[in-house]
Amino acid sequence: MKHSTPPRVGFVSLGCPKALVDSERILTQLRAEGYAISPTYNQADLVVVNTCGFIDSAIQESLDAIGEALDENGRVIVTGCLGADSEKVLSAYPNVLAVTGAHAYEAVMHSVHEHLPPLHDPYTDLVPPQGIRLTPRHYAYLKISEGCNHRCSFCIIPHLRGDLVSRPIGDVMQEAENLVNAGVKELLVISQDTSAYGIDTKYRTGFWKGRPLKTHSQQLAEALGELGVWVRLHYVYPYPHVDKLLPLMAEGKILPYLDIPFQHASPKILKDMRRPAHAEKVLERLSQWRELCPEIAVRSTFIVGFPGETEEEFETLLDFLEEAQLDRVGAFAYSPVEGAPANQLANPVPEEVKEERLERFMELQAEISANKLSSLMGKTLEILIDEVGEDLSIGRSYRDAPEIDGQVIIEGEELPVGEFVKVMITHADEHDLWGELV
Ligand code: SF4
Repeated sequence: MKHSTPPRVGFVSLGCPKALVDSERILTQLRAEGYAISPTYNQADLVVVNTCGFIDSAIQESLDAIGEALDENGRVIVTGCLGADSEKVLSAYPNVLAVTGAHAYEAVMHSVHEHLPPLHDPYTDLVPPQGIRLTPRHYAYLKISEGCNHRCSFCIIPHLRGDLVSRPIGDVMQEAENLVNAGVKELLVISQDTSAYGIDTKYRTGFWKGRPLKTHSQQLAEALGELGVWVRLHYVYPYPHVDKLLPLMAEGKILPYLDIPFQHASPKILKDMRRPAHAEKVLERLSQWRELCPEIAVRSTFIVGFPGETEEEFETLLDFLEEAQLDRVGAFAYSPVEGAPANQLANPVPEEVKEERLERFMELQAEISANKLSSLMGKTLEILIDEVGEDLSIGRSYRDAPEIDGQVIIEGEELPVGEFVKVMITHADEHDLWGELV
């Protein structure tokens, strides 16, 4: 028997950009199978909650979201990182319909089919080739791999998502091309470790438009650079071959922007974190990169108050920060993640010391950032418009990734979203820039 209205699925997406990409895939598959996506709980036949399990506050947020979906709708399927620990979900909410883990598209779809069978109508339920996206129309995340071969002691992602599995380069390029054809102006390349792309496949040769391409970050960056849009690389580890990306940046093929998570600078803490990097070498490389591409913007993240961090080691980190002069920095006070080996380390840092160190760290970086941004005054930058309000437009330059970095505010103009404009910078604070249309 044929139903006249398609079954409706509500969707709640929590967590990092990687989880967002998972959500997009699930939503694309749902639409491809003829499900409608419901914007409200009460119109949905069931609700899928894509959870995050990275730190305690994210776990709590995920559990709250499941509770809310159960109260409002009653029929809930849980997926995502927290779903990998089904015990935790089921002990809090025994009446959820199903629990599946991260990156488990097939298992989620299987549960949806079981509890809400699809309505097949291939003539009306066509999905555009670029799929369904949750980001605004003009930028999109491009996930190139799953999992991670590192074993950083504070992280449980390899445990949740397994070892590195790189997507075939032909598939990645096809997806990128579809996105660009659909109007995307900026591609944000994401993975757990972008410079490791292809290691698991021994850099296998794939094909794009009949042309051989190696599954390797450099060849990927080169090919993406041909698409004529902004290409931004996230989560790049400072392996030696990263140097090969710099000429591509200097030539304007990809954005001169590197997001490199350094996490700390003290050799002892880095060793306890099981991170390969070495602070002095990092400083050397930073100055080489700046020589090769002077406009490069470097973003990084750090953890302060890692177990065993002494005042002296923290000061090593501050000295590094001072010397590295990074453009954008995110920092977290260490928070023990259940199941992470770092929890076993001796001498945990008391909460108030962690908070005090985080404050000192952010204060120093705010000063660095304010100096860096004020040096842009009088310069003209190309800006991609993200939002428009009354008598105001907000965009970003190559120096800013969406959501995490700063913005460029253009007062007195209502510019089209998704367009590039030239803006002369007239004012700066420690985070954002203001400017006038040229
Ligand atoms: S923090 Fe370390 S282990 Fe976790 S995903 Fe990143 S590189 Fe892999």
